[in-house]
Amino acid sequence: MERKNIAILGATGSIGTQALEVVRSFPDRFVVSVLSAANNTDLLIQQALEFLPKQVVITNTALYSKVKEALAHTNIAVAAGVAALVEAVELPEIDVVLNAIVGSAGLRPTVRAIEKGKDIALANKETLVVAGELVMDLVAQHKVQMLPVDSEHSAIFQCLAGEPSPIEKIILTASGGPFRGKKTQDLRTVSRAQALKHPNWSMGAKITIDSASLMNKGLEVIEAKWLFNVTASQIEVVVHPQSIVHSLVQFEDGSLKAQLGLPDMKLPIQYALTFPERFPNTFKRFSFTDYATLTFEQPDLETFRNLKLAYQALAEGGNRTCVLNAANEVAVAAFLDDKVSFLGMSDILEETLCQIPNRKQLSLEDYITFDKESRMMAQDLIHRLKN
Ligand code: NAD
Ligand code: MG
Repeated sequence: MERKNIAILGATGSIGTQALEVVRSFPDRFVVSVLSAANNTDLLIQQALEFLPKQVVITNTALYSKVKEALAHTNIAVAAGVAALVEAVELPEIDVVLNAIVGSAGLRPTVRAIEKGKDIALANKETLVVAGELVMDLVAQHKVQMLPVDSEHSAIFQCLAGEPSPIEKIILTASGGPFRGKKTQDLRTVSRAQALKHPNWSMGAKITIDSASLMNKGLEVIEAKWLFNVTASQIEVVVHPQSIVHSLVQFEDGSLKAQLGLPDMKLPIQYALTFPERFPNTFKRFSFTDYATLTFEQPDLETFRNLKLAYQALAEGGNRTCVLNAANEVAVAAFLDDKVSFLGMSDILEETLCQIPNRKQLSLEDYITFDKESRMMAQDLIHRLKN
């Protein structure tokens, strides 16, 4: 049997390392040809020595010689920098590019991979938040598969299997994060450590903060719009603190389909890599007796302003979601660096959206320019807040 050839971008992160666990358990089905990381040289080197890809890319060019030397005794090609990352996805043997990079840095490699006819397993939701329309047009033009890794979108994708009929509504579930039930007053002084304590999922720092602010759900509403070609008004968010029902689709006859399972990203990662097949595994199984009650409630859009901002940005279109995403990346980094408060993050987003005017009909380079401008604007606002 031909093995599926995978490029893993962001291999050292939370999704990247779990993807390698999946790959490791099916050695006769998968082979890794590219591994990339930004800074974690030790783990990247260790992964390269285990999986022996054709190429590794370290995007921080200052770290090139360390990786190169460590792999000098192997046949693995080592490259550094962002351009090398974008080029690496072109290798002819690659079947699928698993994009597990965090942030808008994932956009260019996704676009290049699509243009080269590669299927995409997408964890990097920011790709679709920044430039969903352009990216999905390319997916159609190059006839590649866009396979969601995000658990909610994987759930929807699984519910849609074998369903040619239109979607009436998508119900995206949200855990509610560590601050569920809190009001604005309670959130004024929350710390980085409190925000980093997610009740159900262990993830990278950026998405963990996004989960605490409900920005993650906002990004996912935008991601769902582009993946499943629905309008914002067809996407409803429901808070489900147990994270067992990963999302639902309602069809036009009123029938609802849901996908359930324990919160473990290895399952949606595996499904994206094996689709349309399902491979048997030994992941822990869900038991209803361990979860006697599954509960559902409305999200609080007044307290968690970012989710509302995401809906507004999506409705307005053009560069709005790109600007929102860029400002959010800067705001989250500043929060993690103790430079802005938890609620201050939403102020930065609102103000950046006010300062950068909307534009429509954008090219890839336009999106990248707005991403840069918005980051500079958000940085500037944070600086001004401080002084
Ligand atoms: P992470 O921070 O743990 O890992 C990020 C990876 O990307 C690392 O390998 C890092 O080296 C690389 N990277 C970071 N910045 C980069 C840059 N500028 N250029 C190139 N590479 C860079 O993040 P994560 O939690 O694994 O999340 C990755 C993506 O998957 C995010 O878009 C996130 O929203 C999405 N996602 C994650 C989870 C999860 O459980 N962790 C669930 C759903 C979706
Ligand atoms: Mg998700």
